[in-house]
Amino acid sequence: MSKKVFEALKWASSFLIPAGRDENAGELLLRHFSGMSRTQLFANIREELEPGVWEAFEAAVKEHARGVPVQYIIGSEEFYGRQFVVNPAVLIPRPETEELVYGTLQRLPQLFSNKQEIRLADIGTGSGAIAITMAIEWRLVSGTTRGQMSVSGGRSMPKKPLLVVSGTDISADSLVVARENAERLGADVRFLEGDLLAPFVEKGERLDVVMSNPPYIPLGDQEWMSEVVLEHEPHRALFAGEDGLDFYRRFMVELPQVLAPEALVCFEIGAGQGEAVAELFRKTFAIVNVEVIHDINGKDRMVFARIGFGE
Ligand code: SAM
Ligand code: GLN
Repeated sequence: MSKKVFEALKWASSFLIPAGRDENAGELLLRHFSGMSRTQLFANIREELEPGVWEAFEAAVKEHARGVPVQYIIGSEEFYGRQFVVNPAVLIPRPETEELVYGTLQRLPQLFSNKQEIRLADIGTGSGAIAITMAIEWRLVSGTTRGQMSVSGGRSMPKKPLLVVSGTDISADSLVVARENAERLGADVRFLEGDLLAPFVEKGERLDVVMSNPPYIPLGDQEWMSEVVLEHEPHRALFAGEDGLDFYRRFMVELPQVLAPEALVCFEIGAGQGEAVAELFRKTFAIVNVEVIHDINGKDRMVFARIGFGE
């Protein structure tokens, strides 16, 4: 038996609120299963749902009430204005990570303007969100790369270095998703399977830019984390030892083996970890300039380290 749009939304709220879930999930799910935009949904609020839509919607709302993230039910999440395929093999990309991408894009041009090629790697790429967005956004900045002549208003513009992007992950299942996203979005990214920086150490490859949103949640935080995250997202994407700093400590051992003499390292961090991660950089590198940057919610969330650049 089908339902009208407003009846379906009302039922979803009455089901999700007592289950402790966000009631907006009802609207998101109905938009997905009906194929309607928000405006269309409200313009058709008194219309009957198409056959099959109510059943699919009802099942999805019940699944979310049990704790399954909406993005895994829908199969996608938006990141930097683009849709990324997600499934339980990958972390659902977060809005904070968009700020890491933005901050990196802001810093690259002035640091590497005299290079032909910038080699960048996203370590622990998951859905590929960081690596793919960097590749696409860099291409969009001026639309030209070194080797192509760019003429604007009769004047030649300085040529932009080519950004060569790799993404790595320890999980082969994550890389299946990352490759699918790169293909759908038309991004040229090389994906490599391996433990942290090992793929580059093994190939003897040097990197100009290392980006990473590694696992950084202290194990003890499990006690108060939402079950939507804790019981459904991969733990290998979340936890990093007693203080959440395990991966940053490992990076300090491996980075000196792969970084070019002048390099930029861009990390997402957990709130409150900024000073500790900055200190790790200062202890590891003789010439380093570290910035701890706060996110839109005022929490320290990013660390950018310029290594080997003379001031
Ligand atoms: N970069 C994605 C994003 O920002 O949405 C995913 C980040 S998630 C917090 C961390 C990722 O690191 C997961 O995809 C996980 O599989 C990967 N990972 C965990 N341990 C790793 C290791 N030792 N080497 C490489 N990747 C690892
Ligand atoms: N920001 C994610 C969360 O709070 C954690 C991601 C990470 O550990 N890198 O669930």
